[in-house]
Order: sequence, then C-alpha cells, then structure tokens
Amino acid sequence: MDGATGQHGNSDLVDPFARAITYLRVSVTDRCDFRCVYCMAEDMTFLPKADILTLEELDRLCGAFVRMGVRKLRLTGGEPLVRRNVMSLVRSLGGHIRTGALDELTLTTNGSQLARYADELFDAGVRRINVSLDTLDPTLFTALTRWGKLDQVLAGLDAAKKAGLAVKINAVALKGANEGELDRLVAWTGEQGFDLVLIEVMPMGDIGGEARLDQYLPLSLVRARLAEKWTLDETDYRTGGPARYFTVRETGRRLGFITPLTHNFCESCNRVRLTCTGTLYMCLGQEDAADLRAPLRASADDGLLDQAILAAIARKPKGHDFIIDRRSSGPAVGRHMSVTGG
Ligand code: SAM
Ligand code: SF4
Repeated sequence: MDGATGQHGNSDLVDPFARAITYLRVSVTDRCDFRCVYCMAEDMTFLPKADILTLEELDRLCGAFVRMGVRKLRLTGGEPLVRRNVMSLVRSLGGHIRTGALDELTLTTNGSQLARYADELFDAGVRRINVSLDTLDPTLFTALTRWGKLDQVLAGLDAAKKAGLAVKINAVALKGANEGELDRLVAWTGEQGFDLVLIEVMPMGDIGGEARLDQYLPLSLVRARLAEKWTLDETDYRTGGPARYFTVRETGRRLGFITPLTHNFCESCNRVRLTCTGTLYMCLGQEDAADLRAPLRASADDGLLDQAILAAIARKPKGHDFIIDRRSSGPAVGRHMSVTGG
C-alpha cells in the first residue's frame, strides 16, 4: 500500500458506490461520566473490559487507516476524555498531522474534562473540537445529562477557547425539553464565537422508558422558528458530513442542521466508524459490521488487517433507512450511539 496516497479521491479505500473513505470516527470507550436521556439508559451495561482494545492497538488500527487513505480522524465515545491515559493516543495520532499524512485530528466530547486537557489537545495537534451542550439552563442540563454539571462544561469551554481550539457546539433538539431554548443557544454561540450544529434525535439503542416519539422534534420546524428571529443565509460550506450549514447574519457564525430522519445525506458519505472493540461499522444506520480485532491480533504485521479493512469497505452499503413512526417506536438500530460514537 502506498503511504503517499490519500488526497481526497485518491484513497485506497473506495466503496462500491465510488465514494472515497477519507474520514474515520473512532469510539475510544463506550463509557461516559454522563447518562444523557436520549443516549443511554441510567443503568447502562458497558462492554467487558477484556473486549476493549488497548490504546496501542487503537493507535495501530488508526495508523492502518491513515496509511490507506484516511485524512481525517475523529475520536469520540462514550466520552473519549474519560478513557485512562487517552492523551497518549492523541499525542501518537498527532504524529500523523506532523508528517502530513493526516489533515485533521479532532474529537467530540461532552466537555466535562476539557479544563484539564484543552492545552494538551492543542499541543498534540488538535485544532477544532465538537462539544455537546443541549441547554444553558443548569437545572435542565442536569436533568438531560442525569449526572452532568453545567459549570464544569462552561469552564471546559473557556479553557478550550484560551488554548486556541475552535469550538463547534452540538445540540440535540428535544421536543418539550430544550426546544424553547434553541434561540438562546444561537445568541450565546454567536457571542462566544462558536459554530452551532443542531441534531435531530435518532432512534438508536434502548434508552429505557423514554419514548423516541416523545423526543422527536423535526428540525424543519426548528429552522422555520429560528428564521423568524435570525437571518439565515444559505452557504455551500460542507464538512463532508451530513450537516447543512447556514450563516447567521446577525452573529456571523455558522448554524448547521443534521437531519438524518428527514433528509437523505448518504450519497456523499465519506466515513466509517470504529468501536473500541475493533468492530468497524460501514454505516451508522445498518447492522452490518466487520471485526478488525481478530486480524489485528493474529499477526504483528498489517497484511491481514489491511485485507480485512479493504473487504469491509467493499461492503459499505448505499445508505440507511431510519424511521420514527407510530408503527415502529422501538430503536431502528439496537446499539447505542455511545458504542459507535455518533
Ligand atoms: N460523549 C461525547 C459527546 O457527548 O459529545 C461523544 C459521544 S456522543 C454519543 C456524540 C454525539 O451524539 C453527541 O453530540 C450526542 O448529543 C449525540 N447523540 C447521542 N445519542 C443521540 C441520539 N439518539 N440521537 C441524536 N444524537 C445523539
Ligand atoms: Fe455520554 Fe455523550 Fe452519550 Fe451524553 S451523548 S451519555 S455525554 S456519550
């Protein structure tokens, strides 16, 4: 495999629909210090520790993807920053930025540990992060995250800004919960100099009690409401992901909408997802997966691993088919978002 390949469209990883796979999302742990109501049940059962790849194994797997053409890596979870010694992985992956093999190393975090890690992340080569924050109301924040403290996340965001990290806030739009507050989030992210992405709740994983139908708030409605107050200018800005972006004229910041349920974004999909057990999901909304842990552990050189990765990419499906309606109120996909990392 030629280590110099990998500019977009020049990857070894091209799927049956001629999409170059240049973006790998890696869930480094399924554990988390929060229990967000749309993501986890309160009494979550986590993966047995023995099944979880070591940080060295995750590093080697990511290295194989980078060598084969991946240009962007996102660490996620669970909460990536609660994995013990996670910074050793971040620093090692940052080495691919310095050699030019990787364009971007980033992470999605709940922000609870950012005050501690922001400077180190920047030093390792991270320049942008996504921080999930659904509300600025401390009481609602604790209700939605069950275990989270808003102050801690706000302190983390301050540290990220001071460290020089660009921040994008992810907020899941939830009917009857934060729906009246989305306008405030637009104003606040504008003041802070953060971009904002609103996410439609997805039917993933059994979250116990909370019915999906009750949470689902179509973003078409949210957008129409926001447009009464803010001037939303269309942009052609894309991150290679499913978000559709506008510029809020009054704040100058970007506002994105991720609408997996009402809008099909699969044609331009450039990504695959790796779990902390070495399972590769070729599509967020499909069950098909490839085990990379066995070939990884079977030999110290990467021959078997490379073959397994190529075989998996050759089965990447065309798209997904999430449905929330009255006939199918159970999860469309049984695994939790905290396993695949969103
Ligand atoms: N713990 C980190 C965090 O919260 O940012 C990273 C992992 S979390 C699973 C990644 C993203 O998925 C978060 O922005 C979260 O809000 C979102 N998410 C979790 N469950 C979801 C669901 N059922 N529908 C839509 N988004 C979801
Ligand atoms: Fe944890 Fe993120 Fe899931 Fe919330 S959304 S429970 S912070 S993994």
